[in-house]
Amino acid sequence: MPAFALIVLYLCLVFAPLVLAGLSGRPPRPLMDELAAGAGLVAFAILLVEFLLSGRFRAISGRVGMDVTMRFHQLLARSALALALIHPFLYTLPFNRPLPYDPTRQLTLTFEGEGLVTGVLAFALLPSLVVLSIARDKLPYRYETWRLAHGLGALAIAGLVYVHALEAGRYSQDPLMQGLWTGLVALAVLSLVFVYAIKPLAQMRHPWRVAAVRSAATRTWEVTLAPDGHDGLTYRAGQFAWLNIGRTPFSLAENPFSIASAPADGPEVRFLVKELGDFTSTLGAVEVGTRAYLDAPHGHLTLEGRREPGIAFLAGGVGIAPMFALLGQLIREEDPRPTVLVYGNRTAAQIACGEELARIRRLHRTEIVQVLSEPPPDWDGEVGLLDAARIRALFSDPKYRDWLFVLCGPPAMMEIAEDTLIQIGVAPRQILAERFRYD
Ligand SMILES: Cc1cc2nc3c(=O)[nH]c(=O)nc-3n(C[C@H](O)[C@H](O)[C@H](O)COP(=O)(O)OP(=O)(O)OC[C@H]3O[C@@H](n4cnc5c(N)ncnc54)[C@H](O)[C@@H]3O)c2cc1C
Repeated sequence: MPAFALIVLYLCLVFAPLVLAGLSGRPPRPLMDELAAGAGLVAFAILLVEFLLSGRFRAISGRVGMDVTMRFHQLLARSALALALIHPFLYTLPFNRPLPYDPTRQLTLTFEGEGLVTGVLAFALLPSLVVLSIARDKLPYRYETWRLAHGLGALAIAGLVYVHALEAGRYSQDPLMQGLWTGLVALAVLSLVFVYAIKPLAQMRHPWRVAAVRSAATRTWEVTLAPDGHDGLTYRAGQFAWLNIGRTPFSLAENPFSIASAPADGPEVRFLVKELGDFTSTLGAVEVGTRAYLDAPHGHLTLEGRREPGIAFLAGGVGIAPMFALLGQLIREEDPRPTVLVYGNRTAAQIACGEELARIRRLHRTEIVQVLSEPPPDWDGEVGLLDAARIRALFSDPKYRDWLFVLCGPPAMMEIAEDTLIQIGVAPRQILAERFRYD
C-alpha cells in the first residue's frame, strides 16, 4: 500500500468515531460538551491505532520508513495524551444529577461505578506511559523491562478506556460505535499477538547459527549468521533485522541491526555491531554455533527504484554497516553510477573493515573520503568532523544536485548533514536516512 493510502487509512480510523457520533442523530448538547466528547473519542482511537505504529509492521514502516513511523508514534501519543487530559475538564453538563426536564438524561453525564473508576484509572496511567517513554534513557531499567511495561501498560489503558467508553460514553452506547471500539481493541490485541507469538513461531521454523564472530574495529564486532536448515532471508541491501542470539524466539531480548552484507553475497548475513550496552557488550563472547533468530527484513534504506545519476554515502561510526550492504550490491549488479563514500570516525582504530573499504574502492571505483577527528600522526585522510563545513566543501559542486544522498550515523551528524544538504539545494526526496534509534 503506498504511503499516501496509509495516511488516508490512518485518518479514516482516527476520525471514524467523530463521523459515527455525528451520524448518531442524538440531540445536540452545549458546544463544550460536544468538544469534550470529541476529544475523548479521538484520543481513544489514536491510542488504539498506536499499537500498529510500533515499528514492527513491515506494511507500515517499510513504506514510510522506521524513523517516520516512530516520530509519528511519539507525536500521536502526545496528541492523544493532550486530548485525554482536556477531555474531562471541557464538560459543562452536570454529573449524575437527574434533571426534571431531561427524563432520558441526554443532558446529564452518567459517570458512576465502572465508568468512573476506569476513566479515572486511565486518566492517571496514560501520562505515566508517555512520560516514562520520553524519559526512558534516564530510567534505571533495562530496555527490555521498559518494552514489556510499555506494551502491557498500553494494553491495560486501552482496556480501561474501552470499559469507560461503553459505560460512560454517550455516543459509545450506539451499536455501530461499540462495534468500532471492539474492532479497534481487537486489532490492538492482535498486533501484540502477532509481534509476541505469531512472529516468534515463524522464526522458530527459520533458525540461524552464528557462523563467525570477529573483531572489526575497536569495540565493534562483525557477526555472521548462517541459515540453519532453510534458504535464508529475502531482503534488500540496506535493510535491518531484529537480532536475537542464544535465546528463545519469544524472548524480549532482540535488538535492531543493519544487515551489512548484500543479498547477492549469498545466504549468510553479516552484522557490524558496536558495543554500547548489556547485549552488544557481550557479543565478543558469543560462540560459533549458537542459535539465533531474525525478525527481518525491516527498513527502507534501500536503493531499489532509485534512478539518480550518482550516489553519495555519508556514514558516521557504525553507520557504515548498511553502506557496506548497499555498495556491495552495487558492485554485484555492476551498477555504473559514480559513488562517493564519506566515512567519519574519531580514531583510526574505529575504522571498520578496512579491507572491505579497499575492495569497494577497487571494484566500484568509489571515491572514499575518510574523516578522523583524532587522527594518528601518519594520517593522510581528512581531519575534523563530518560537519556542515565539510559537507559543503565536498558536495557544493552543482554536479551533485541530482545525486542521491544516503545517510546513517549518530543523530547529531545526521541532522547536520540533512540540513546542510537541503541548504545547498539537494531536494529532500533525494536524501535517504536511517537513525540508529528506535524511539
Ligand atoms: C534501525 C536500526 C539499525 C541499527 N543498526 C545498527 C548497526 O548496524 N550496528 C550497531 O552497532 N547498532 C545499530 N543500531 C543500534 C543498536 O540497536 C543498539 O546499539 C543496540 O540495540 C543496543 O543494545 P544494548 O542492549 O547493547 O544496549 P542498551 O544499553 O540496552 O541500550 C542502549 C540503547 O539502545 C537502544 N536499544 C536497546 N535495546 C533495544 C531494542 N531491543 N530495540 C530497539 N532499541 C534498543 C535503546 O535506545 C537504548 O537506550 C541500530 C538501531 C536501529 C534502530
